[in-house]
Amino acid sequence: CGIIGYVGPRSLPEVLVNGLRRLEYRGYDSAGIAVVDGGETRVAKKAGKLANLTAELAEVPLPDGSAGIGHTRWATHGAPNDVNAHPHRATGSNGNGSDRVTLIHNGIIENYAELAAELAADGLVPVSETDTEIVALLLGREVESGTPLPAAMRAVCRRLEGAYTLVAVDSDDPDRVVAARRNSPLVVGVGEGENFVASDVAAFIEHTREAIELGQDQMVVITPEGVEVTDFDGAPAPTRAYHVDWDL
Ligand code: GLU
Repeated sequence: CGIIGYVGPRSLPEVLVNGLRRLEYRGYDSAGIAVVDGGETRVAKKAGKLANLTAELAEVPLPDGSAGIGHTRWATHGAPNDVNAHPHRATGSNGNGSDRVTLIHNGIIENYAELAAELAADGLVPVSETDTEIVALLLGREVESGTPLPAAMRAVCRRLEGAYTLVAVDSDDPDRVVAARRNSPLVVGVGEGENFVASDVAAFIEHTREAIELGQDQMVVITPEGVEVTDFDGAPAPTRAYHVDWDL
């Protein structure tokens, strides 16, 4: 229900937790972040309020990193506990998945059971009860077969039914965040040498007021220097850029 992604020079845990704090008014069941740092992705997530996550981070700090994602969850599939909290890795319960991809999601994947059965036939079994982890496993399978994360996201989104804002990172591609949307909001915050994605401009308004609203069935790839919006077939998509001139 609250989403933020960031690439740039700032400390990831700080940008992500502050962004989630700005979205706190929405209420949620758990909070978590993932930080890509030199070829690996570290995850911290906790059921309950953001304070539980910050207490965890005080004990086991995450590195500053180069890219990352943060999420507050409104549970629809699976109890509001630590395991079902986002972000979700693509590793799977038996380690048959990918240790590269990590994903957050707002919304509901309506055909997740059918997709889960397909993955199970392939030896890919989730750790959690969420519909989201099924998408993580699908993305991981694509990436492990040699597809870069942006193309993997397009291929997977074409197969999903329901409502989603998805934001993913790849440990092997440490300066990129990939996001997509259908029936759920996604905005880009355009900075200088840094870029953001979020479910609401409130998450990044303290850093930039230049925003791009994504349309239906669009995805975006952000790097520190660039923002690229396409449709789910990879064709450049029209965007609506605007200046946020209100205050929190
Ligand atoms: N359906 C997902 C879950 O239950 C995402 C919920 C949300 O929008 O926070 O974990």
